[in-house]
Amino acid sequence: MVRGSIGKLVSGSLSLAGRWQQQQLRRLNIHEYQGAGLMSKYGINVPRGVAVGSAEEVKKAIQDVFPNEKELVVKSQILAGGRGLGTFKSGLKGGVHIVKTEEVEDIAGKMLGQILVTKQTGPQGKIVSKAYLCEKLSLVNEMYFAITLDRATAGPLIIACRKGGTSIEDLAEKFPDMIIKVPVDVFKGITDEDAGKVVDGLAPKVADRNACIEQVKKLYKLFCECDCTLLEINPIAETSDNQLVAADAKLNFDDNAAFRQKEIFALRDPSQEDPREVAAAKADLNYIGLDGEIGCMVNGAGLAMATMDIIKLHGGTPANFLDVGGNASEGQVVEAFKILTSDDKVKAILVNIFGGIMKCDVIASGIVNAAKQVSLKVPVVVRLEGTNVDQGKRILKESEMALITAEDLDDAAEKAVIAASS
Ligand code: GDP
Ligand code: MN
Repeated sequence: MVRGSIGKLVSGSLSLAGRWQQQQLRRLNIHEYQGAGLMSKYGINVPRGVAVGSAEEVKKAIQDVFPNEKELVVKSQILAGGRGLGTFKSGLKGGVHIVKTEEVEDIAGKMLGQILVTKQTGPQGKIVSKAYLCEKLSLVNEMYFAITLDRATAGPLIIACRKGGTSIEDLAEKFPDMIIKVPVDVFKGITDEDAGKVVDGLAPKVADRNACIEQVKKLYKLFCECDCTLLEINPIAETSDNQLVAADAKLNFDDNAAFRQKEIFALRDPSQEDPREVAAAKADLNYIGLDGEIGCMVNGAGLAMATMDIIKLHGGTPANFLDVGGNASEGQVVEAFKILTSDDKVKAILVNIFGGIMKCDVIASGIVNAAKQVSLKVPVVVRLEGTNVDQGKRILKESEMALITAEDLDDAAEKAVIAASS
């Protein structure tokens, strides 16, 4: 997950050749119930459902929406997959339960306010603030469907598999030949032929082929019009009454489109995000939290990646990816430093700045100011090079901070790894 985000982040930055280094490269992720709502607007079949946040809301939802249902699906809403096989910190197994309607209140009560840990959340898990109550469909076939952006064809790529329900990683391992990929010409849009290929890949058993083609076209329309970077439905299912239904919804959106997707971006839920990343986003920093012990402050995505690699080469692990950008202000540097120092796992900080547009003295002042505001408990290794390097070095020296200076990137990484382990 984290690697994937970095891959996207870096390629994004590099392809823009540093022109927009302050851009947000995170991807907006929305909850399943919100994704289902959006799909429904586009005419895509989704189960009837209501999101609830309290026992009162459960009661009301059952009365108003499901008065005649005998059973309901109760789904924990977190911004991570693998919920079905997840476990709550309370001990309750499974983030998705199918129960009799009279038991819904009890099971929803056991989910709400609790922490769910899945393969994708990391050991800290994510808090469940809403449960999504859905009509229980009788699923006769579960398949996999996704639309993503593909670098090779530089456009949308539809991925389908006649088997679904389990993670795409597992599907790819077990049934590599069943996964089909259909690139779509973004200028031409999706053709009946493209959609037909996708449906043949899904190989529905009972649903009408033409009806499925229409659903695929609507999914593609949503993907384009809403500026999605990912639309994954696992499972997309067939019901006993021959319908193709999206039984799950994972939608991500391009942050660069936030300006024209205001309604969608208003759905952002910071309670589901890494608090370090929330703070970084506020300061307009490109930051991705990782779980190593060396905090990195670097300018430029490429240099940040190289720094992480060299730390690894010397036997350390980076605690984060952080690109302060090409023209960060002193205030942003202070914020960046605060984020790094507030992370308990960080045992040493490595500042690696190659001054171009970014001036070394600005970084140096930022470090000195940050040190006044936060207590520096860990060693800081600094490598400065480029524009105003002498001024920068002077500022650091005059501050009388206990810094470890390094000559080059290799030297800096080595010193940081030693500092972190001592
Ligand atoms: P995930 O584990 O986070 O991907 O959560 P899903 O939304 O995919 O739910 C997990 C599993 O619950 C699915 O793979 C389905 O097998 C099952 N499921 C979800 N909704 C229904 C439903 O309406 N009827 C039935 N029979 N199973 C469902
Ligand atoms: Mn799923």
